[in-house]
Amino acid sequence: MNTDALLTRLREALPAERVVTDEAERVAYSYDNSRLQALPDVVVHAAGHDDVVHVATCCHALGVPLVARGRGTNTTGASVPVAGGVALSLEGMQRIIDYRPADRLLVCEAGTLNGTVQSTAGADDLFWAPDPTSGGYSTVGGNIACGAGGPRAVKYGTARDAVLGLRAVDGSGRTLVTGCRTTKGVVGYDLTRLLVGSEGTLAIVTEATLKLLPRPALRRTMRAAYRDVESAAAAV
Ligand SMILES: Cc1cc2nc3c(=O)[nH]c(=O)nc-3n(C[C@H](O)[C@H](O)[C@H](O)COP(=O)(O)OP(=O)(O)OC[C@H]3O[C@@H](n4cnc5c(N)ncnc54)[C@H](O)[C@@H]3O)c2cc1C
Repeated sequence: MNTDALLTRLREALPAERVVTDEAERVAYSYDNSRLQALPDVVVHAAGHDDVVHVATCCHALGVPLVARGRGTNTTGASVPVAGGVALSLEGMQRIIDYRPADRLLVCEAGTLNGTVQSTAGADDLFWAPDPTSGGYSTVGGNIACGAGGPRAVKYGTARDAVLGLRAVDGSGRTLVTGCRTTKGVVGYDLTRLLVGSEGTLAIVTEATLKLLPRPALRRTMRAAYRDVESAAAAV
């Protein structure tokens, strides 16, 4: 890989402080919540959709590996840049672009924390269904890429059931806009559900339109006792 050529191209459209080669900084982006580690050659901090387009375009032109990263909370090594290249951090992209409680939707940048979505929607007695235990400190983009869900998935489904549409950038730098803003979006290929759960292998999500649900009017804690582990698991 020609790092100088890559840096020159990246810096044509990005400020120097967001294209980082300092080793200490690269180490911070070399691991996630797994035991894997691999040093990226460059860390880029994206500030918006256009930055992601630029980085993908440069990497595509020069044949450089590119790995998207939210907060690195996944436990599988999915955000470890095993082939080197660019680690593209979206953690700075945290804008809530549109919030329409009456339409039960929220549009945000991919680096927005799940917890921010929950507290924003919670003020209007709404919530976003995906509730991985890492929700307080993982990103919407990471949740979508991992197809995340938590205990609520039993009733409400996972991220695939909770995303209405996406704005994303494919490996050659092309922008994709998928889905719609209504629950009924029946015509055409369902690219949204294809991208959700694809772990950054098909495209980098930059913005997501999230489907919100009304909070239940009542919550009760229930305890159920089972004879043994097998019958408890069967009930789940
Ligand atoms: C304590 C703990 C509990 C958890 N509990 C659950 C659980 O109950 N249920 C569950 O489903 N999961 C659970 N998880 C996993 C959870 O789904 C991930 O931690 C989270 O979704 C990853 O978000 P992140 O922002 O940290 O993404 P990262 O870890 O940075 O990235 C994860 C993957 O997504 C890709 N990616 C990140 N951002 C983007 C983007 N914008 N566009 C495209 N690809 C992108 C990365 O390349 C990587 O492949 C848990 C994790 C922890 C640490």
